[in-house]
Amino acid sequence: MVNEERMRKTFTDLVKIYAPSKGEREVCDYLKKELKKLGASRIVEDNGGSINGGNAGNLIATFNGNAEGLPSIALTGHMDCVECCRNIEPVLEDGIFRSKGNTILGGDDKAGVTAILEGLHLMKENYIPHGKITVIFTVQEEIGLFGSRNIEKEYIQGIDFGYTLDADGPAGSGFNGGPSPACARKRVPAPSPWRALASPPAPTGVSMKKLPATWAPSKAAPPSTSSPTAAWSTEKPGAAAAKSWRK
Ligand SMILES: [Zn+2]
Repeated sequence: MVNEERMRKTFTDLVKIYAPSKGEREVCDYLKKELKKLGASRIVEDNGGSINGGNAGNLIATFNGNAEGLPSIALTGHMDCVECCRNIEPVLEDGIFRSKGNTILGGDDKAGVTAILEGLHLMKENYIPHGKITVIFTVQEEIGLFGSRNIEKEYIQGIDFGYTLDADGPAGSGFNGGPSPACARKRVPAPSPWRALASPPAPTGVSMKKLPATWAPSKAAPPSTSSPTAAWSTEKPGAAAAKSWRK
C-alpha cells in the first residue's frame, strides 16, 4: 500500500528546498540521505553538473536485485526546478497540492522524485522481487538537459529498461516515447509498484521521453507477456510515427 502520509511529507520536504538549475546541492544531499536509508548498495554523485557550472552532480544509486532473471531497470527524475522556486509553500487542498503564492509549486519534477522514493519504500517493505534498480536523479534538466548530457556513463551500465517520471497526465500510465524520430508515443502501464501510485496525491505519470541522452538498453526488451512491462517496445518506427506525434 502506498503510504500517502509519507508521500506528502517527502513531496513537501522536496519542494521546500530551493533547487534551481545549477543550484541542486541541498536537494542532492537530502536525496543522498534518503537513498542511503532505503538501502542503496552504491550511491554516486558524478561530475556531470560541474561541467556546466553547477554546484551538484547527477545522483546515481544502485539497488541490488533480490531475485534471479528479472530485468534491470532505471528510474529517473530531475532535481532542479524552474524559477521562481525559492520559499515554496505547498498547500494541500482537496487532495491537490498547489503553491501558496508567488512561486511555482515545483511538482516538476519533485512529484516524480517523490514517486520514485515511495516505490522504493514499497519494494523494500513488501519484499517485492526485483532485478537491479538504478535510480538516476539528474541536475540542470530545465536549462537544457545538461545533467543527462554530461552524465558519467560508467555508472549507468547494464540497464534493460528506463523510466523517467516526469510527465503529466493520469498517474499510473505513461508513454514509451517522445517527440523524436526514434520513439513512438504509446500509453503504457507504469511498472509495479509505481503503477500503484495512481491515487492522490501521487501527481505523476511515467514517461520515457527524457531518458539521459547517453542511456541505451543493454539488451532488447523481453517478449510480450502479461507483465506490466509487456507494452514496452524498443522498436523504432521511424519518421511516420514521429510525424503523427507532432500532430
Ligand atoms: Zn521536468
